[in-house]
Amino acid sequence: MSSEAVVTTVAASDPFRVVVAGGGAAGLETLLALRTLAGERVALTLVAPHDEFVYRPLAVEAPFGVGRARRVALDDAARDADATFVPATIEAVDTARRIAQPAASHPLEYDALVLAVGARAVLRSRTPSRGTTAPTPK
Ligand SMILES: Cc1cc2nc3c(=O)[nH]c(=O)nc-3n(C[C@H](O)[C@H](O)[C@H](O)COP(=O)(O)OP(=O)(O)OC[C@H]3O[C@@H](n4cnc5c(N)ncnc54)[C@H](O)[C@@H]3O)c2cc1C
Repeated sequence: MSSEAVVTTVAASDPFRVVVAGGGAAGLETLLALRTLAGERVALTLVAPHDEFVYRPLAVEAPFGVGRARRVALDDAARDADATFVPATIEAVDTARRIAQPAASHPLEYDALVLAVGARAVLRSRTPSRGTTAPTPK
């Protein structure tokens, strides 16, 4: 039997478990792309701490009454991708055992974990703090 036949047999009986952390554009695009490309060979779980995806570029127009940010319920998005939605924050990951631990929920075993948790903006002061010296312009 060729190695390709073995892989096919395993994949057909036992879907590859993918946990996607993050309900933003990256998380949802990953979920939909995986379902489209891998079909029934993957079992998908979406984990995000809120109920909705908000299309943020349009959010800047709302204060001016120009438009409203588009919102999509995450459980609907997950259902469209035939995925399970877990409304929680992933608090810990055991990479050796491949287990992601959402807050107040049961541990999730995975074969692949996608971290699409975005970035956090940090404001940095341009004024040097006391006791430090500003860099000298060259
Ligand atoms: C006001 C505004 C206007 C913007 N306009 C534009 C624009 O015009 N064009 C453009 O290209 N970009 C724009 N952006 C940037 C764009 O919104 C971001 O690049 C995009 O949202 C990044 O998507 P993301 O999925 O990587 O992260 P995010 O959208 O930040 O999503 C991260 C997700 O991860 C979840 N998460 C975080 N930690 C955990 C955890 N531990 N466990 C589980 N889930 C977790 C969050 O709750 C969230 O659902 C704008 C951003 C803002 C704020």
